[in-house]
Amino acid sequence: MPSSTSSISSDQKKEILKTIDVLSFFHESTLERLAQESKEISLKSETLVFSEGDPGSAMYIVLKGEILIYQGDKALTSMLPGTFFGEMSLIESRPRTAGARALVPSVLLEISETQFQEYFATQPQALMAIMKTLSARSRKISTGLVSSSTSDRDSKKEDPTQSIASPLDEYYREVLVIQPKTFQFIKANFLACVDTGFTPEEIKKKTFIELAPNLDPKKLSQMCESLINKIRPMVSFETTINRKDGSSYPAECKLQLVEPKKSHSEILVWVQDITERKQMENTIRQMAYYDSLTGLPNRNLLNDRLAVALANASRNNQKVAILFLDLDHFKTINDSLGHEAGDQLLQQVSLRIKKVLRKQDTIARMGGDEFIVLIPGLTDTDHTARLAEKILDAVTPPMKIGDNELYIGCSIGISIFPDDGMEIKTLLKNSDLAMYRAKEKGRNTFQLYTPAMNFKAMERLAVEKNLRKALDREEFELYYQPKVNLSTGKIAGMEALIRWDSPELGLVMPDQFIPIAEETRLIIQMGHWVLVTACRQAKMWQEAGLPEIHISVNLSVVQFTHPNLVSEISKVLKKTKFLPQYLELEITESVLMQDTTLAVSILNKLSELGIKISIDDFGTGFSSLNYLKNLPLDYLKIDQTFVKDFSLQTNAAITKAVVTLAQSLNMKTIAEGVETEEQRKFLTELSCDEAQGYLFSKPLSKDEMEELLKSGKIF
Ligand code: C2E
Ligand code: CA
Ligand code: CA
Repeated sequence: MPSSTSSISSDQKKEILKTIDVLSFFHESTLERLAQESKEISLKSETLVFSEGDPGSAMYIVLKGEILIYQGDKALTSMLPGTFFGEMSLIESRPRTAGARALVPSVLLEISETQFQEYFATQPQALMAIMKTLSARSRKISTGLVSSSTSDRDSKKEDPTQSIASPLDEYYREVLVIQPKTFQFIKANFLACVDTGFTPEEIKKKTFIELAPNLDPKKLSQMCESLINKIRPMVSFETTINRKDGSSYPAECKLQLVEPKKSHSEILVWVQDITERKQMENTIRQMAYYDSLTGLPNRNLLNDRLAVALANASRNNQKVAILFLDLDHFKTINDSLGHEAGDQLLQQVSLRIKKVLRKQDTIARMGGDEFIVLIPGLTDTDHTARLAEKILDAVTPPMKIGDNELYIGCSIGISIFPDDGMEIKTLLKNSDLAMYRAKEKGRNTFQLYTPAMNFKAMERLAVEKNLRKALDREEFELYYQPKVNLSTGKIAGMEALIRWDSPELGLVMPDQFIPIAEETRLIIQMGHWVLVTACRQAKMWQEAGLPEIHISVNLSVVQFTHPNLVSEISKVLKKTKFLPQYLELEITESVLMQDTTLAVSILNKLSELGIKISIDDFGTGFSSLNYLKNLPLDYLKIDQTFVKDFSLQTNAAITKAVVTLAQSLNMKTIAEGVETEEQRKFLTELSCDEAQGYLFSKPLSKDEMEELLKSGKIF
């Protein structure tokens, strides 16, 4: 296709788009975006847009010129500015049945398949409008075909209905005449015979009821009467017509009165095969009510089913459970392995959850990695918790996606009708709140809604408001948690952990405000403060002659991708005179997966400075370990969840694997969240290098830490 040149201004484009009826459902800003995002194509006269059989992955809007739609050497129709074409293959997902070429120099806007999905598939009204335009267009085209093809032209000579001139023959292929009392066919045109497979003689031996057995003779009789008595000029209905070979097709029929002789009435039957329209209606219903990726019901259908479920439940004194499901760390997978892998994962997850449900339950995809499970007609809500557990068990086993084995968990929030709300909106909101609570609890778990959660949501707003003032008012404080060398029992270093002592909210833990600080990007200044404070404090302890002062600082994704990170860190090191070999930065796996090439270059720069790098929460984020080989990493920090329960075989196995992997890559391992002697023993046996956790010490204030260091305690 010829390359695109910009010949029409953005504003002009938008004005043309506005005149297209199927786009009238879109907001002006959406049209603007569509105009900007779509490719503009300029075509010379007689150039091809696409040919017959083309797989078709775009639709086109004519901005200028004229496009001819053709089949073989037959011209079907032509498209002028303000019309669209080529969308059929997108709706029906089959190759194009017609070709398109420019009659004169023309300019088109190309809407790609992804754009089509994005703009139209989410807008049932727009799709409906497309469908209507299409069905009108296909009627025109089919009659166009009739008059231009020779066999039809010949047949017209014998066409018994030819004498009847009516605007209707533009739209209806089949024309028949029946006797109003017996419904016996008197005449049939050539196309009626072609479509049904009967000869004219055979048809004349039949009645309309025999051809369309779904028709109620009484109703048909009433319709004929109302025509004969001139109560109505015309009646129309849809029915199914049987062919001679036993197959059938849906048809739209119109009845009209003819009076060849005075006092002699006959009824004219116009018939149009509406198979394609029906199919399109189905496709559109599918698009409007089902998610195209997973085939699951979407938000629209869920709302319908919820309304029915709630009405039934209140009638029968039953309950309805709503489970709000959100996959853990899905974004990491999507960002690192690509959307295709993400899509496959969503499909597999949907299948797994579906298997756990009963027939009367609904699982719907709300978009992204969010699902809702609707459980109607409950008498006992205990069942819900059991089901949530079953879903978690179904989702957790590893999934094979391409060459990767992925582990994914999900967090589930549950609300119950009528206990937690009477309306759909409230119930959804409350299950969402409960889901967030489940995430906070440590993911891969479920949580029932409690009214306190609404309070928590308000709390979040308060956090955000006060967080902005906290830096200026110096409300942050650093705590230090020792890291212990497992073979010597000596303190090997410490991790700096931030605390917020807010006059309004009391002592706030980082899990409650770090995510908000990240969203608002306050984390940049906050992280700077942490770094300066940690380096300054550690330098002071070193100067006081205290041993083994290595300090590690947590870096969030937002900080890591900030362009000034490296220069800022070296400035801080200079200013505080803290030597880089004593500083360690803890980053999570997800930081690495955001943009691997960028991550590698930043890590190399940090490593060149002499700073140590540690991968925090290792084992929770990502499955592929390949990328570790190429990175300058010093420590793998085994996540608490694996340490917590070594009695679980998988946890023990993962820990063992992480230690072995780290050794093979020349990295050290540290286990966090060590709370019992048993865990310590297990880790020592695995030759894990260091450990951190309540068994040794909770995070300590500056003064407490100083005391501990001075005591020279061996753990
Ligand atoms: P993290 O980096 O995984 O930190 C370890 C968390 O585990 C700390 O929670 C620590 O107090 C806790 N912990 C230590 N030993 C044990 C134990 O034996 N059992 C249990 N149950 N927990 C233990 P904390 O201080 O609440 O910090 C939570 C998270 O907040 C940290 O997780 C880190 O991701 C983030 N965070 C803390 N300080 C900072 C900071 O200065 N900057 C950034 N970006 N994030 C921070
Ligand atoms: Ca950490
Ligand atoms: Ca951690």
